Amino acid sequence: MTTIAAKLQHVRARIATACQQAGRNVQDVTLLAVSKTFGPEAVRAAAAAGQRDFGENYIQEGVDKIAALADLRGQLRWHCIGPIQSNKTRLVAEQFDWAHGVDRLKTAERLSAQRPPGLPPLNLCLQVNIDGGPTKSGVAPAEALALAQAVAALPRLRLRGLMTIPDPAPDFEAARAVHASARALFDQLNAAGLGLDTLSMGMSDDLEAAVAAGSTMVRVGSAIFGTRAVKPSRQ
Ligand SMILES: *Cc1c(COP(=O)(O)O)cnc(C)c1O
Repeated sequence: MTTIAAKLQHVRARIATACQQAGRNVQDVTLLAVSKTFGPEAVRAAAAAGQRDFGENYIQEGVDKIAALADLRGQLRWHCIGPIQSNKTRLVAEQFDWAHGVDRLKTAERLSAQRPPGLPPLNLCLQVNIDGGPTKSGVAPAEALALAQAVAALPRLRLRGLMTIPDPAPDFEAARAVHASARALFDQLNAAGLGLDTLSMGMSDDLEAAVAAGSTMVRVGSAIFGTRAVKPSRQ
């Protein structure tokens, strides 16, 4: 077994244990493998071990990787989980299956307009600034419902849910409390009729707390692929 396959198995076991402890069904939590900074061969190894969903932060890097793995394109789902600048919306609309980092109507409108007619609608999660850090991206929780309603009306997008990146919390309970506030917002939007099915939250260090609070998709990088040695410049 490759190291990546072994680590994947370990992460799946962590998710299963967290689901069991929360009384949740393990099928209700999708593992998104965050492959940023790792090469196509790392993705290939994870795909060979059964992983299907992959997340990339840096759009050009993701597009290059998608091209290098063109033979696997039909089996994999590619998620753009980073911020999307206006000049990168076309690449995301044309190449990815999901976008998680959207926090403005303008970005969503561009993605909808640029989604090629031959492809299914782009799956979208709105990024919410759930812990209110002043310099962080993400829509404010109080504005999430209005943005979600506007985005849900766009023709070439399918609004799936919310995504959060809270600051690291000091302990499990603190992490769970922040994730629980995201879950409450998610439930509130669904009570307003939005029909969301995806709450994208939890990473390598806090996936258990996220699952306990009701995450449906955990985004895990280093626990699968190892420590990221170099951080590429922002694109
Ligand atoms: C890098 C990244 C992750 C994965 O982080 P790890 O701590 O390596 O699991 C998840 N989500 C986003 C948005 C990221 O940028």
